[in-house]
Amino acid sequence: MAKRDYYEVLGVAKNASADELKKAYRRLAMKHHPDRNPDDKSAEDKFKEANEAYEVLSDEDKRAAYDRYGHAGVDPNMGGGSGAGGAGFGDIFGDVFGDIFGGGGRGGQRSNRGADLGYTLELDLEEAVRGTKVKIRVPTLVECEVCDGTGAKKGTSVKQCGTCNGSGQVRVQQGFFVMSQTCPTCHGRGKVIPDPCRSCHGEGRVRKQKTLEVKIPAGVDTGDRIRLSGEGEAGAAGGPAGDLYVQVSVRDHRIFRRDGADLYCEVPIDFVDAALGGELEVPTLDGRVKLRIPEGTQTGKLFRLRGKGVKPIRSHGPGDMLCRVIIETPVHLNDQQKDLLREFRAAGNGEESRQSPQKESFFSAVKKFFDEMTK
Ligand SMILES: [Zn+2]
Ligand SMILES: [Zn+2]
Repeated sequence: MAKRDYYEVLGVAKNASADELKKAYRRLAMKHHPDRNPDDKSAEDKFKEANEAYEVLSDEDKRAAYDRYGHAGVDPNMGGGSGAGGAGFGDIFGDVFGDIFGGGGRGGQRSNRGADLGYTLELDLEEAVRGTKVKIRVPTLVECEVCDGTGAKKGTSVKQCGTCNGSGQVRVQQGFFVMSQTCPTCHGRGKVIPDPCRSCHGEGRVRKQKTLEVKIPAGVDTGDRIRLSGEGEAGAAGGPAGDLYVQVSVRDHRIFRRDGADLYCEVPIDFVDAALGGELEVPTLDGRVKLRIPEGTQTGKLFRLRGKGVKPIRSHGPGDMLCRVIIETPVHLNDQQKDLLREFRAAGNGEESRQSPQKESFFSAVKKFFDEMTK
């Protein structure tokens, strides 16, 4: 079937304003809405046609493409540059009519599903990196054992709601529209309990502290979330349980700081080792490792130990360990050491500019700065 022109479908002029389009679409959608024309195939087709026309013409880009290329310009199968075929049916419908028809989720029974729960789990870095098993206690709602979650007293049963015949919704005529509303008798559940269970007062669930063992996979980090399906609150009146989300939070470590797959640590070294070079022992999560530092190492220098970092949960291999060396100025020197340092300074023989290049370039920049200022 050849498609009709969208402007023709909506019965508007080619230069119709957004407001005119909206009004025309509203009128047609109300007239042909399936709720008002049950089992009428031609009304349904017209309703869909109007929806499609409005979806295109209400979008500036799509309308421009349609004006230039016709249906080919907005046919989702043609993959036109306009990004046609985006907004779904429900989206535009909600836009224009808001809640009149009850928004997106029209009709149907209210869900009895239990609520999802969140739990923040604090871990040490080592636990997070290696994985662990923890026991957690969660205050929650569990299925009532007395009535097996039905909410009905032992020996009695749950009945279908007579007001809505079990659908949970009742139809109300309001002026022009027939609307669906949540059933006032059963509050959307579709069922009523003539003789409620004493233990749970008909709720089918009771408050309890639940103890759970949670397996934490290796590599988790702050912000990771572990979903335990069905471990949230029990559903009302025998409904399905919600989920429990365990949110990981890793405590600060005394030595290491983690950044994704990499671990950082600062290692203080003395100035003699820094000047002469040497071998250091540095910590990793798997134990001590030897690190060679070259002669003339400056403070702040970062050394990388490949593969000594962390393997994050969604990654193929481990990251690196990065050690930043910090040169420590010695304190509490004895007299002999002080004498040796004075001797050390005297032995420089004017080689300062070569031996402390950073200091030299800094002070020459300072000199230049003041020279220019006094010009
Ligand atoms: Zn009960
Ligand atoms: Zn009802």
